[in-house]
Amino acid sequence: MASVVVVEDDHQIRDLVVRALAGSGHVVWSEATGMAGLQSVIGNAPDVVVLDLGLPDVDGGDVLRMIRGVSQVPVIIATARDDDDEIVRLLDAGADEYVVKPYSGAELEARVRALLRRAAATGPSNRLTVGPMIVDLRSRSVTVDGAPIDLNRKEFDLLAYLATRSGEVVSRQELYAEVWRQPYGGADKTIDVHLSWLRRKLGETAAAPRFLHTIRGVGIKLVSPA
Ligand code: CA
Repeated sequence: MASVVVVEDDHQIRDLVVRALAGSGHVVWSEATGMAGLQSVIGNAPDVVVLDLGLPDVDGGDVLRMIRGVSQVPVIIATARDDDDEIVRLLDAGADEYVVKPYSGAELEARVRALLRRAAATGPSNRLTVGPMIVDLRSRSVTVDGAPIDLNRKEFDLLAYLATRSGEVVSRQELYAEVWRQPYGGADKTIDVHLSWLRRKLGETAAAPRFLHTIRGVGIKLVSPA
């Protein structure tokens, strides 16, 4: 259970989001404007913020910057466009996650859970350490033995998710739900393709793994190299 501030001016979306989060046992405060949302974040000190970008009084990106001026609370941006540049800009400006409209209550709830798990795993620094690998969730950067690894967005999301669960086997179904946000079809090679790109960038192969271990029929495990 977490406490969540929802900032959304569309009352239908707001009601849906509040119902979904409250129905999952979260404490929810909701506001229809950016300034009221900022006040609620300051006053209620929630665990997570869900922030719409198109607000009537202040642009959501500016609300994000104002929140970042006073708090490191995890923020999920709700955007109407699946626009890579826009999303990267907002992640750089301090957003932790995003959902693309229209999104379901279940999808948002999954994002909230992922953020809480991440916050519990990282503490305030937002860094995950797996042996010689450091995954910085705030700057979305990865280093191994101090050397930067250049990853695209989905490669980073996949590696970061596995890093929050390092040492555990994570199923393909879970990776689809949490990283790709889709149900797993079974025959789909998306995860295998991204894993092979990640392995190449990490300088390893499926036959001679260091960090990324495939457990046949079960899933994927990220571990510190022996
Ligand atoms: Ca709006």
